[in-house]
Amino acid sequence: MKTQNIIFYGAGKTARLTKDAYHKYDPVCFVDADSSKHNTLFHGKRVLSLSQALSEYPDALFYITTSRYKCQVISQLTKHVESRRIINYESVNKRFGCALLETTAAITFGYTKGNFAFAFCCGHPSHRGGTPNIICPSSYDDYTDLAACFLQGRNNLISSLNQEEHVCKGCPHLLFDYFSDNPKLSNLGNVLPAICNVNCFYCNNPRIIRPGHSKDELDRVGNFDFVALAEAFMEQGIMAESSSFSWAAGEISISKHREKFFNLAHNHVLNISSSATIFDELLLNFMQTPSFGGELTVALDCGSRESFQRIKGLDAYQQVCDNLAKYGQNRVGSDLALKYIVCEGYNDNEVDVEGFFEIARISNASTVILERNQEEVHNPLSKQFVKIAEKFSTNAKEAGLLLRIGNFIDWQECSRKILEANGG
Ligand code: SF4
Ligand code: SF4
Repeated sequence: MKTQNIIFYGAGKTARLTKDAYHKYDPVCFVDADSSKHNTLFHGKRVLSLSQALSEYPDALFYITTSRYKCQVISQLTKHVESRRIINYESVNKRFGCALLETTAAITFGYTKGNFAFAFCCGHPSHRGGTPNIICPSSYDDYTDLAACFLQGRNNLISSLNQEEHVCKGCPHLLFDYFSDNPKLSNLGNVLPAICNVNCFYCNNPRIIRPGHSKDELDRVGNFDFVALAEAFMEQGIMAESSSFSWAAGEISISKHREKFFNLAHNHVLNISSSATIFDELLLNFMQTPSFGGELTVALDCGSRESFQRIKGLDAYQQVCDNLAKYGQNRVGSDLALKYIVCEGYNDNEVDVEGFFEIARISNASTVILERNQEEVHNPLSKQFVKIAEKFSTNAKEAGLLLRIGNFIDWQECSRKILEANGG
């Protein structure tokens, strides 16, 4: 019997969200709109243009691997194939919407004393002060109620985008484009206050608790069960079929919920932030299990022991480098991303950038992230910042590392200043 050919649409970074799909299907090829990827290999399969793929496999079914651009892909793809040939089809329509609002959310705490809140935005300076969030009065153990509160609040916000007045007015992420009629989240994040053993001077989480605090305080921030919330979201159909969960709440290696969270890796992509100051066997297991996928992100922020100690308030540079090497050199299914948050007067020098890339090399990192200290985002980009950003992107290119520009940097403006500095 002839088996049905499956084509994966989307050969970009977010295609790692296809983890569930990989278990179910063996694609004959990828299709991507980016012509620079055509006739290259991605996950061992050819990347073709849509017309090439349709001519080689005229009866194939399609699976869309990108969540962020899924609705736009559906609108394009349905011009060429019937919707029944798109495995993860959903109905889409043209309206005002925001991909961040409709596909991602993070739970946080403390906008209003004692309440949980859900946040959506990337934190770009252009919408600081007016970012929408959903305040949920809820207790620690009512996860079903929290999920229901999120769903209602998020849907109200989406509807409001098509009315005259709304909180997102003027935001560059607000687009008139194709969006889902029933938007589902592809990522739910945990950025709740939590326990952390590090003391970054730039930490913007005022509710971080240090291990030396009283038991009551440790219990108060440590008792929230993010996995129970994730399960409630899944039960209420809020999450997309292929979805990921992120943990950026304090230091995961000392969280009592970490084992439960790592168990989600059996069925979901996980994005984990850690300072890597403590070696964690569960984290190593996550990195070296071939069927697990996701990313470990470590904000190293420097390339020397002295800078590390000044920025993190801890003399643990060598320990972090050793742990990174163990995680990175043994990684199989997941990526290792090293972050550099540029902080004026602390690490905006070439020596630290050089040291950082040396650690990226030794630890077999796949990605580097350039970010800006949130406290400085309202200042114009300084000459020194532009110089460091240029060096950072050059080093990343030379090392063959994927460069991600993180929150709080207007990369268009930065690129223009780099050109100006070079007489362009
Ligand atoms: S403020 Fe901008 S990024 Fe945030 S939800 Fe609204 S449109 Fe999206
Ligand atoms: S590691 Fe993260 S949570 Fe901990 S102090 Fe630094 S920024 Fe804050």
